[in-house]
Amino acid sequence: MKTLYVELGERSYPIHIGPGLLRRTDLLQPAIHGRQVMIVTNETIAPLYLESTQQGLAGFEVRSVILPDGEQYKNLDTLNRIFDALLEHRFNRKCTLVALGGGVIGDLAGFAAASYQRGVDFIQIPTTLLAQVDSSVGGKTGVNHRLGKNMIGAFHQPNCVLADTDTLSTLDDRQLAAGLAEIIKYGLIRDADFFNWLEQNMDLLTARDTDALIFAVARSCLNKAEVVAADERESGQRALLNLGHTFGHAIETGMGYGAWLHGEAIATGMLLAAQLSARQGWLEPGEVDRIGHLLARAGLPTRIPGDMSTQQFLDLMAVDKKVMDSGLRLVLLEAIGAAVVTDAFDPEQLRATLDAAHE
Ligand code: NAD
Ligand code: MG
Repeated sequence: MKTLYVELGERSYPIHIGPGLLRRTDLLQPAIHGRQVMIVTNETIAPLYLESTQQGLAGFEVRSVILPDGEQYKNLDTLNRIFDALLEHRFNRKCTLVALGGGVIGDLAGFAAASYQRGVDFIQIPTTLLAQVDSSVGGKTGVNHRLGKNMIGAFHQPNCVLADTDTLSTLDDRQLAAGLAEIIKYGLIRDADFFNWLEQNMDLLTARDTDALIFAVARSCLNKAEVVAADERESGQRALLNLGHTFGHAIETGMGYGAWLHGEAIATGMLLAAQLSARQGWLEPGEVDRIGHLLARAGLPTRIPGDMSTQQFLDLMAVDKKVMDSGLRLVLLEAIGAAVVTDAFDPEQLRATLDAAHE
């Protein structure tokens, strides 16, 4: 097991990564201050991991709420079901919520914890690779609104994150690959050594080798934790975490939400960012090839879907929420391991990049 810390002054917390962590009462106990614990999970995850998690929480007054599975349920109605359960069982301000699931459950349970009785404790037990390396770290919580994704939410840090790598054994290959996309992102934006390691170890990761997963999850969390510690509220360098995301959101929206997984869309988006960077003369063409090759080995798509035109793509990029109130700013690469947020690119090169990237 590896443990690292997100350094946020008195809100600092540990992230434990390794196999067999669900049952580790010794890790859970220090993060819980009252007696009452509510596990928030969904219909897919409950049959797989609820019992083990309950065992890890032996000795507490444990209840659970099992929600329907899917991004479409990440909304205020579902949030209310969590509040119903908390109030029906008379949970008090010293209770702890445990998010057992992927990013959807983490965001829902985290926001419930942020707002129940003006804020209670919570623990993240992320069970997707994406949640282990991204959504469980950093304190962003929230739900979707009919008019926009993640539009209602709060910053609320967990007391502890338990990333049990055994849970990844039941994840399907596409979901695994989607998590690998965010992992590759950390190498690209700020950790060239990690990118090299990923080139050497990608086959172990896709084969779900435990040691390789522990290393990759820990190194990713370390990168995210450093970025978050430097910029908790996303005023500066946290924006670098959006590499590939403006492009990726265009694909997600253009194809209809759910057709491409987020990680798949940002994989193609990161390669587009690299290709544009190369057209600007900032990145060596050989490095673009390395990036494309690594993404493909992770099982990720690297071409724009054939039925999206360049113009449609550009229109969708222009409404991305991160670019609304200024010119189009993108995260681009100066090298593998060095990203910048900039609007100093040639729009014609952007168009040419998109033209060249269709299936
Ligand atoms: P998800 O939570 O929908 O999980 C994907 C699927 O895998 C679901 O069907 C889930 O039930 C299933 N699943 C989860 N764990 C499993 C396991 N161990 N075995 C088998 N199946 C399992 O999706 P996700 O990719 O984990 O998270 C995406 C969500 O995270 C989005 O809503 C996104 O907005 C959010 N997110 C939040 C942040 C943040 O900083 N808060 C960052 C990134 C993404
Ligand atoms: Mg992302």
